Amino acid sequence: MIIRFVSIALLTSLGACSSPGGAADPKQPRVVLATIDGLRWEEVFAGLDSTLAEATRTFESLAGDFHDPDPARAREKLMPWMWSVVAQEGVLLGNRHLGSDGIITNGQYFSYPSYNELLTGQPDDRIDSNDKIPNPNVTVLEWLSGIPAFEGSVAAFGSWDVFPFILNAERSGLPVNAGFAESADADRLPRESFLNTLQAQTPSPWGAVRLDVFTHQYALAYLERAAPRVLYVAYGETDDFAHNTDHAAYVRAAHRTDRFLQDLWGHLQADPAYAGRTPLIIPTDHGRGSGEGWIGHGTGLRWAGSEYTWMAAIGPSIRPLGEAELDFELRQIAATVAAAVGEDFAAEGAAPPIEEILD
Ligand SMILES: [Zn+2]
Repeated sequence: MIIRFVSIALLTSLGACSSPGGAADPKQPRVVLATIDGLRWEEVFAGLDSTLAEATRTFESLAGDFHDPDPARAREKLMPWMWSVVAQEGVLLGNRHLGSDGIITNGQYFSYPSYNELLTGQPDDRIDSNDKIPNPNVTVLEWLSGIPAFEGSVAAFGSWDVFPFILNAERSGLPVNAGFAESADADRLPRESFLNTLQAQTPSPWGAVRLDVFTHQYALAYLERAAPRVLYVAYGETDDFAHNTDHAAYVRAAHRTDRFLQDLWGHLQADPAYAGRTPLIIPTDHGRGSGEGWIGHGTGLRWAGSEYTWMAAIGPSIRPLGEAELDFELRQIAATVAAAVGEDFAAEGAAPPIEEILD
């Protein structure tokens, strides 16, 4: 179990310092949550699917970078950071070939219902579309931000423009930079102003989702200048390139996201505010169909397989189990994030954390 010194941290931060980031206690735990929209467990655990690449006529363009007849080597080519660092120092769950199932409990297998499950710790049948409706449920981010030691120290960055509604930014007051939002903070860094310019001048393949490079770079800049105790980064390209039926772009997005995560992890290790006390937790909102169903997800025979997800985690309070033969449910992620900073979200009605992976 992780050390639970919540009450001590609360007392010291209340008495000493109320600055965002809570500088009062230098040992306070932090956590970063990062999601990769709709990246299948199949690619994560077995790399490039050659049959799919042949069927989509992308094998020739992808083989040089990603093909290997041995799935263990193919996955290293696709996600080198995941398989060289997380698999050694952290944990990966959801390899169905090993008998590890990542189960989604919301019965819908698309983004808003699944992010709701992942972030609030329970499924909700009322959420049955991706419409921009403020979430009636409280996410672990909103709940944490209501605890004095975390007040003003929780932030979210996402590529999809529905995140302000999933996180109910209006009610929660969380800073949520998502979709094509710019940084409007008065204390923004010069490079955030440059990102604002660049984002406005870069054509996006989609109307509701920006390219992940902007989400990633805004998040890194914020990390540097505001040092939030809880940060959420929601990458989105994988899902949208797949919906575009662009298999090569989907595969390359998976690879690029692995690089983003490596970069994010590197920044956490290089920053004394985060190094040694910040686990990185990486779940995915939903799976996708298999065979020609890879382009989509949801209920129905065509999308069978969408109900399986995967997750990875690394850092303090995470047991280095490697590729573990454990089942988990998507709704357990919320309380796992809270447990990483010593808080009990299950007491609020969320599903229990994945205790097996926690120290
Ligand atoms: Zn989707």
